[in-house]
Amino acid sequence: MFRLANDASPAPMAGPLRDPQGRTLDYLRLAVTDRCNLRCRYCMPSEGIKLVARQDVLSLEEMQRLGAVFAGLGVRKFRITGGEPLLRKGVVDLIAGLRRLPTTPDVLLTTNGLLLDANLSALEAAGVQRINLSLDSLDPENWLRITRRGGHDKVLRAMDRILEMGMGLKVNMVVLPGRNEHEIPDFVGLTKDRKLSVRFIEPMPFDGAGLPLKAISGAEILALIQPSYELEALENPEGAVDKLYAVAGHQGNIGVIEGHSRTFCASCRRLRIDARGGFRTCLYGKSQVNLRAMLRDGCSDKDLVVAVRSAVGRRLEDGIAAEKDSRLGGLESMASIGG
Ligand code: SAM
Ligand code: SF4
Repeated sequence: MFRLANDASPAPMAGPLRDPQGRTLDYLRLAVTDRCNLRCRYCMPSEGIKLVARQDVLSLEEMQRLGAVFAGLGVRKFRITGGEPLLRKGVVDLIAGLRRLPTTPDVLLTTNGLLLDANLSALEAAGVQRINLSLDSLDPENWLRITRRGGHDKVLRAMDRILEMGMGLKVNMVVLPGRNEHEIPDFVGLTKDRKLSVRFIEPMPFDGAGLPLKAISGAEILALIQPSYELEALENPEGAVDKLYAVAGHQGNIGVIEGHSRTFCASCRRLRIDARGGFRTCLYGKSQVNLRAMLRDGCSDKDLVVAVRSAVGRRLEDGIAAEKDSRLGGLESMASIGG
C-alpha cells in the first residue's frame, strides 16, 4: 500500500494550460504500465515490445504527485491506460487518490477487459464512472487471431457486467482491413438494446514493429455501415475526438475516430504521460520532458509546472507536424505511449 499525497496542495495556478493555437489542455492520459496480457497485432509484435525497465516506470506516488500538479494546472479528466492498466498493482488506489484531489477530476479507464471481473466493484468504489473496453471481434476465433491470446469470454462478460452496474461504457474497435471490417455491422448491432457507444478506430502506425499500415478511413468505415443502418450525426462534446452518430431505433450510438487521418487535431485537448514518465503533448510527437528524471532529481512542484507550461508552449499545430518532428517516426507501440 502506498501513501497518497492527497492533502498536498496542487501546483500554483496561473490560468489553464493553453497551447500556441489557443487550445485548452485539460485531459491527461496516464500510461501506468507498458506490460500487457494480450498481443494485439496493431499494437505490438507477437514476442511483445521491449519493456521499460521496472525502475524506470513511474511509481504510484510519483503518478499521484503529477496528478496533483496537473489538476492544479486545470486538468479535469484523467484516463488511466497502458499497456494493460489492470496489470499494475495498486492502480485502484491511484484512481481513488486522483478522485480525492481537491478538484475531484473525472478518472476514466481504458482496458482490454481481461481482469475486469475481479476489479469492477473496486473500480466503481474508487470513483470510475466510465470504462472504455477494447474489443476488436465478436467472434472468439477471430479475436484470438487479432489478440494472439485467449480470454474472449471474459471480455464479453465484463461488457455485460459494466452495463448491469450502470457504469458508462464505450467499446473500442480498431478496424483492421482484411481481419475484422466484415464485423462492423455486428458491432453496430450491439447498440440496439444496449446503452453503450461503439467507436470504430482507424488503425494508426503504432504497432511497435514498423509494419506497413493497412489503412482504412473513417469515411470508408461509415460506408460499410450505411447500407444496413440509418445514421444521424450527433453534436460532439467539446474536445471529443470521435464523430458520433445516432442509429435509428437503437439505444446506444456509434462513433468514428479518425486517428490516422487526424481530422480532430484543431480541437484536441489531450496530453499524455508515457510509461517512462515522458510528457507528450501529441500522440504522434516525441516526449517533450522527462518528468521521471525531474521527480527523481528532487524537483519542486513549481519546476514541474514551468517544464509542463514550456512544453505546452511548444505544442505543434497538429499530429502531422508532430510526426514530422518526431525522430521515432511513429514506430513505438501505443502500449508504451499510453493509447
Ligand atoms: N490495454 C488497454 C486496451 O487495449 O484497452 C489499454 C491500452 S491500449 C494501447 C489503448 C487503446 O489503444 C485500445 O483501444 C487499442 O485498441 C488502441 N490502439 C493500440 N494500438 C493502436 C493502433 N496501432 N491503432 C489504433 N488504435 C490502437
Ligand atoms: Fe495490450 Fe491494449 Fe496493446 Fe492490445 S491494444 S496489446 S490489450 S496494450
